Amino acid sequence: MTHDYDLVVIGAGSGGVRAARMAATYGAKVAIIEEFRVGGTCVIRGCVPKKLYVYASRFHDLFDVASSFGWKVEATFDWPTLVAAKEKEITRLEHGYTANLEKPGVEIIKDRAVVTGPNSVRLIAGDRELTAKYLLIATGAHPNIPNIPGAELAITSNEAFDLPALPHSILIEGGGYIAVEFATIFAGLGVHTTLVYRGDRILRSFDDDMRLGLEAGLIERGVKLIYQTTIKSMAKLGNDISATFSDGVTAHYGAVMFATGRVPNTRGLGLKTAGVELTPSGSVKADAYSQSSVPSIYAVGDVTGRAQLTPVAIREGQYFAETVFNNNRQAVDYSLIPTAVFSEPELGVIGFTETQAAAYGDVDIYLARFRPMLNTLSTRTERMILKLITEKDGGKVLGCHILGPGAAEMIQLVAIPMGMGATKADFDRTMALHPSAAEELVTFKNPSYTYRNGEKVGG
Ligand code: NDP
Repeated sequence: MTHDYDLVVIGAGSGGVRAARMAATYGAKVAIIEEFRVGGTCVIRGCVPKKLYVYASRFHDLFDVASSFGWKVEATFDWPTLVAAKEKEITRLEHGYTANLEKPGVEIIKDRAVVTGPNSVRLIAGDRELTAKYLLIATGAHPNIPNIPGAELAITSNEAFDLPALPHSILIEGGGYIAVEFATIFAGLGVHTTLVYRGDRILRSFDDDMRLGLEAGLIERGVKLIYQTTIKSMAKLGNDISATFSDGVTAHYGAVMFATGRVPNTRGLGLKTAGVELTPSGSVKADAYSQSSVPSIYAVGDVTGRAQLTPVAIREGQYFAETVFNNNRQAVDYSLIPTAVFSEPELGVIGFTETQAAAYGDVDIYLARFRPMLNTLSTRTERMILKLITEKDGGKVLGCHILGPGAAEMIQLVAIPMGMGATKADFDRTMALHPSAAEELVTFKNPSYTYRNGEKVGG
């Protein structure tokens, strides 16, 4: 049976774009359908603008220590300038992504698509049907909005980048990546920031020492933390929003933002009609090769709910194209994913947390806490924290956690030796680079403490 295309991709985000581009490079006839802007969440309203705003917010700390180096700085901040500069940059990237698709011949269709069968989709605005040998679902995810009265008054990360003006204060609900990153962005830009989280400490699945250190960093930057509480309702109060919490307390804020997780974009996509199996949370069930329960339909990226991270989506898209269009079956290895929270202080992690390591077996923990050199001339007391977790027998490095300046960059590089199975001895053999924070990782002598049979020893 002949089809209009070899591949139709729905969603031009990180995963979809990579898959479409690679498949076209391998000679496939490809169309990609996107209803919003080419680039997806990461480029348009995620990682890229977020990191630009993180940079903007970090000047606050830099100005703070500047005087200890002899500088006199009188700083003011202009939000519209940042928003406009961000828009210019993401537009540049959007054009770059578009050109990268067009170069190998991918057809870009600006429309909304609904899957109508194992090999067909319907374009809503264009009101026509396309057929393809393969369909790739790469529709991403959208912010979860708790079902409470007044929820429509709140913003999410989608709107936060383009607020007409900075609010005088903001309440952010959530304790994950987005909540913590935006709390530091807004606090750094001078907004009175409160974070409300249903759990007992931010970043639930992260290493406890890092959570504590980051919590202290947020408090030092003026972020007010409210734990074991949720927002129960919201109402308009003049130009502000009044929020009532689960403990009955009411307070008002210039803005309220939900950072309460992200939901896969599968609703109304026609997947069930086509026979595609979804998980209870609505993600597309995909196997190691990103194939769904319908053999001609694949899925990559956030819509699969595997790991909601851009580099993972890109790798899944690439391996999909390798497997289906280059006769080279490739499955993504999810075992060692470096990740970072671009907060202030910054957190970079890979591998086991201390708790996971203790449950895994006998391990040694190496821990360093020190003032980052940038702060040593100032009165700032914040500590940088580095933790290396190694296996007792053989010394294999099982986890590395870094809190402080440059943590993300360091963790990316630590991921290389860890992926190669490096041991503590390999780290020890490495010449230190002085003065740097990362040199601590190769100069640890004795363990700070250990775990034997699940019990903490020393420390
Ligand atoms: P996360 O899953 O990281 O955090 C969601 C938070 O919201 C959790 O603290 C969760 O609580 C809380 N929560 C969930 N539902 C509710 C609810 N109904 N009421 C109150 N609180 C709720 O999601 P994010 O939205 O922060 O980010 C989405 C994903 O995007 C991340 O998982 C990550 O993979 C990715 N991301 C990565 C970034 C990076 O790499 N730097 C940056 C931003 C996002 P609990 O802990 O109790 O479950």
